[in-house]
Amino acid sequence: MLLAFCYLYPVSEIIISVNNLTKQYLQTQNSGVNNISFNIKQGDIVAIIGESGSGKSTLLKTIYGLIKPDNGEVLLNGKKVKGPDEQLIPGNAEMKMVTQDFSLNIYAKVYDNIASMLSNTDIAGKQQKTMQMMEHLHITKLKDKKIIELSGGEQQRVAIAKALISNTKVLLLDEPFSQVDSLLKNQLRADIKRLAKETGLTVILVSHDPTDGLFLADQLLILKNGELLQNDRPENIYQNPSNLYTAQILGNAVSLTRQEAEQIGVKTVKNMVVFYPEWVELKSNWNSRRFEVKEVYYKGFYDELLLERNGVIIRALQLNSGTHKKNDHVQANIGRFLEF
Ligand code: ADP
Ligand code: MG
Repeated sequence: MLLAFCYLYPVSEIIISVNNLTKQYLQTQNSGVNNISFNIKQGDIVAIIGESGSGKSTLLKTIYGLIKPDNGEVLLNGKKVKGPDEQLIPGNAEMKMVTQDFSLNIYAKVYDNIASMLSNTDIAGKQQKTMQMMEHLHITKLKDKKIIELSGGEQQRVAIAKALISNTKVLLLDEPFSQVDSLLKNQLRADIKRLAKETGLTVILVSHDPTDGLFLADQLLILKNGELLQNDRPENIYQNPSNLYTAQILGNAVSLTRQEAEQIGVKTVKNMVVFYPEWVELKSNWNSRRFEVKEVYYKGFYDELLLERNGVIIRALQLNSGTHKKNDHVQANIGRFLEF
């Protein structure tokens, strides 16, 4: 069964193409998405990251066929995804979207919510598939509970199980982790990753939280004001952000103006210098490039240091917790930095 599946869908096959997609709600200002193009490989997890209002939901709904684009098209396996005006029931049978409201029958049991997606022509098969899907999402023990008796995170698992049970090829998730606490978030991320790898499911998720994309995704898209700023593997984007915004949204980057950079001995011809705390090398010897340790933040297996020199504050990491303490003087070399 699994072999047959792999045969049908070679790993590198493009499942979705988004071509020059534009949807503007207002003509006077940039609202919606503007001329966006990218491809998605079958079985990949794609994270679309951007702040509130950047066009994430608009893009997701347009991919799913809920919004008619002003321009451009979405192809699923080479076939154009129909818009809401081109079919009776908007959406797409091979894709499923899970939004923040989950759309579950809150007075029905977990089992029945999921099973209701399958027809009654094969009762035994229906039962077996439902049980399997509940196991996949680790919700078997919630089988007989009503949705109103579940936590937000549990409801979300049910919503995903329900979305996946009817031979879904593409799962679209709008802000999937915004309602769950950090422990559950990690579990859910791991589950989504496992599901995608085990079943060949393609996942597109949108989030305002860049860490979702960095830890989870095979492909990361950065959206700002409806524009696609960068599209690459997360590690490539993190190491080589193509613009200031991307560098700032992704991590804990330090941004300095040209003047500030010069005050700590970094020369640039551009306007901004950006680096990550882990690019700062610390040495405890005496020379002119000294910083004062202003604050030490304990982070578990490392410390984050606030360092100051000539009134400029930067951040650095020390892996051996406690090496440099508050009020110590250290030499900090900015081993690598980006200029914008
Ligand atoms: P995100 O999901 O990233 O928060 P949205 O796609 O929901 O962003 O919205 C993108 C932009 O389009 C925002 O400026 C929003 O105000 C605007 N917008 C979204 N939906 C509508 C709508 N139905 N009518 C008018 N403007 C809208
Ligand atoms: Mg949104």
